[in-house]
Amino acid sequence: MFRSDHPLFGPGGNCRRFAAEGHRSSADAPAFVAENGLGAYEYECVKGVQASEDLLTRLGENARRHGISLSLHAPYYISLSNPDPEMQKKNLSYLLSSLQAAERIGADTIVVHCGSAGLHGRDEAMRHSLNNLAFLLEQTRDVCPSVSIGMETMGRIGQLGTLEEVLEHCLLCPERVVPVVDFGHLNARNRGGFFRTCGDYEAVFDAVAQKLNDERARYLHCHFSHIEYGKAGEIRHLTFEDTQYGPAFGPLARVIADNGLCPRIICESAGTQTDDAMQMKKETDSYTAKEGQPYGQSNPHSELSGQNEGKRL
Ligand SMILES: [Zn+2]
Repeated sequence: MFRSDHPLFGPGGNCRRFAAEGHRSSADAPAFVAENGLGAYEYECVKGVQASEDLLTRLGENARRHGISLSLHAPYYISLSNPDPEMQKKNLSYLLSSLQAAERIGADTIVVHCGSAGLHGRDEAMRHSLNNLAFLLEQTRDVCPSVSIGMETMGRIGQLGTLEEVLEHCLLCPERVVPVVDFGHLNARNRGGFFRTCGDYEAVFDAVAQKLNDERARYLHCHFSHIEYGKAGEIRHLTFEDTQYGPAFGPLARVIADNGLCPRIICESAGTQTDDAMQMKKETDSYTAKEGQPYGQSNPHSELSGQNEGKRL
């Protein structure tokens, strides 16, 4: 996995301004991201890997030229919690095509959803999801070894994807399976107010450090967007214009700076993801990062302290 010595920010997919400025191809995205002072881009293949090899090659070349770190969002169709053997075969083909596209563009991580929490209860869904992931890991053991499989925290209560559930998937193969923490999703599935303080954000990094290791916490792959929620959790992605739903980025910026963390934060705002990623970078840059300290050493609050006990991440 690529290690940056500072936090990286960038858009997931192409924003409205990208098209408005005349860009037509995702191969142009790395130059656009770099021009806007950002360092990361998540290439979205959420409806399947449909790009030509030529486009993928050019995207990868341009990312290297402009120093942009890439990740790839795998298709939404992947459903690990579905026990149907036909679905297992489809999952394998979606995963293989995502891994191969990621390798071609030089992405270090593909982002994957676990799937529905199912009709038969959460425990049953988790069992299927873990079994299916174990099968996929076995089948792809020697395929694209430079690409990690990132399991994402999800925004709807009816989906698998609490932080605990994601970390349980990572523990199947901690060298290959990494957590992708979507803070907007975690806020939405808890129907808001989940990330008010620095301690609320630190609890996430602490949980990753404790269950996996400090390095995974320090270089965490994240998504950050404001997301509207209702009774069942996530309804839709908003922009940073939103002041009602959140979560607020400010405390996270401070946690990143105070702890010398180097996460990669992908913004999935509805149409303004590049501008909102720029806003996050600016806010984080406004704090002085303490450099060169492993996760947790510079932070007196990094132990999971009383205030977050019992909070379901
Ligand atoms: Zn996702």
